[in-house]
Amino acid sequence: MLILISDAFDASLPDKLARLGEVTDDKSRLPQADIVLVRSKTKCDKAFIDQAKKLKMIIRGGVGLDNIDRDYAAQKGIQAYNTARASSIAVAELAFALMIALPNKIIPGHVSMSQGQWKKNELTRTELFGKTLGLIGLGLIGSVMAQRGKAFGMQVIGYDKYLDSHPDVDLKDTLEDVLAQADYISLHTPLTDETKGMINKKTIAGMKDGAVLINTGRAKCIVREDVAEALHSGKLGGYATDVWYSDPPDKNEPICSAPNVIMTPHIGASTRENLLRIGDIVEELIEKFVNEQ
Ligand code: NAD
Repeated sequence: MLILISDAFDASLPDKLARLGEVTDDKSRLPQADIVLVRSKTKCDKAFIDQAKKLKMIIRGGVGLDNIDRDYAAQKGIQAYNTARASSIAVAELAFALMIALPNKIIPGHVSMSQGQWKKNELTRTELFGKTLGLIGLGLIGSVMAQRGKAFGMQVIGYDKYLDSHPDVDLKDTLEDVLAQADYISLHTPLTDETKGMINKKTIAGMKDGAVLINTGRAKCIVREDVAEALHSGKLGGYATDVWYSDPPDKNEPICSAPNVIMTPHIGASTRENLLRIGDIVEELIEKFVNEQ
């Protein structure tokens, strides 16, 4: 049994898996691999799968399977899994950190002081307390955000096309209802045909003036040119994002030069604790697979 670790996992994982098979990170051994472990970097498309003649299982450490051609894998008899339940706290904590950082001017405060400036009078802040948090997608991560929003005294509303009720959230009937009422909007849906480009010129026009958008979901859920334009005009008060059209973003990425933006390099799932949780789930999945052989 050859287990190929193709992307970055916790450093303890190879030792953990050694009892279940030979573990390698040598990508040239893909044709001999029975199991491949990926995160978001490796694209398991047709060409990748065609090279992997012995492959029986792909495990994506993280949420989503959008970097795996699942239909083609299934045709070839390859099982595909993710470790969805591991990452909720890690991603929600980053989304919340971004949401706190924007109105508290933490980045401009730090940058101006590191440049020798003292902007005590210019850097006015606003509070999250009493504001309305609109969550789009109330699955694992959205639900953790909802609890944290309530703990900060925010009014938490949301929209989830596939949920009728939620214990912590006042669910609205449409995306537009949430966008019209929220001071802070945080995106937590997968990227699908329905969610692609859902934040665009038209839906932004229906938001409150100065609303703040947080995106730790998927970049293509927004139309980046429309978001950048709304930041330049002031319609959007801020945009904090961990996710990009490509990793890393291309040099013409309009978000990078827009005002009132906070950017992180797709590190939502990258806490030490989460990498350990992902490792535990990977080990469970491989152990089950080995026992079934
Ligand atoms: P989840 O599957 O538990 O929740 C997603 C929710 O979105 C579900 O409740 C679903 O009903 C809802 N949804 C689907 N289509 C919708 C639509 N058209 N309109 C409204 N709601 C819709 O997933 P999760 O674990 O909460 O993760 C959410 C997303 O976060 C993932 O799909 C992934 O894109 C992203 N993510 C990002 C990082 C990161 O590093 N930044 C890490 C993990 C996950």
